[in-house]
Amino acid sequence: MTYNLPKLNYSYDALEPYIDKATMEIHHSKHHQVYTDKMNMVLEKYSQLKGEPEELMSKLDSLDMSKIDKQTFQNHGGGYINHKFFWQVLDPANKRDEGLVKEIENTFGSLDSFKEKFSDAAKTQFGSGWAWLVRNSQNKLEVYSTSNQDSPLLQNHTPIICLDVWEHAYYLKYQNKRPEYVDNFWQVLKLL
Ligand code: MN
Repeated sequence: MTYNLPKLNYSYDALEPYIDKATMEIHHSKHHQVYTDKMNMVLEKYSQLKGEPEELMSKLDSLDMSKIDKQTFQNHGGGYINHKFFWQVLDPANKRDEGLVKEIENTFGSLDSFKEKFSDAAKTQFGSGWAWLVRNSQNKLEVYSTSNQDSPLLQNHTPIICLDVWEHAYYLKYQNKRPEYVDNFWQVLKLL
């Protein structure tokens, strides 16, 4: 089973001025393509494995795969999965999710305190990684960051909101100013 680069449901300039067209184009058509290709190279070696990449990621430990290929799948399969989800989170056609807003308020006290917590996770992630809002195994909302392309699916957590804080996600426009990129994420996000 091989996978194609997931389609973007909006134009590369749809998130201007907060996320610029050049960044979106390179991020989607180059970076995400490489993750997709390298994930396919691993999966092609294990044609007996059934299930979507997301399903395989959630049971990676138990897969019949060499240690090095598991690590490659964690990295590049993670890149494939995380970006596919990130493009959906950023979709400008998203509508405010009232149920989610209510649950966030109940869990974190207020929308603002959630945003602060999430932003802090994004800003303080050392090196490359992601900030996440997930639903954990206890069915509770949780905020944290992960390194590299590690997916919350590795812990059987369900991603709800994510932000890519790899430099490739913001460097063209923001250079070293990751905090400004993170703050502007809230302008782009339509779910809350
Ligand atoms: Mn990225």
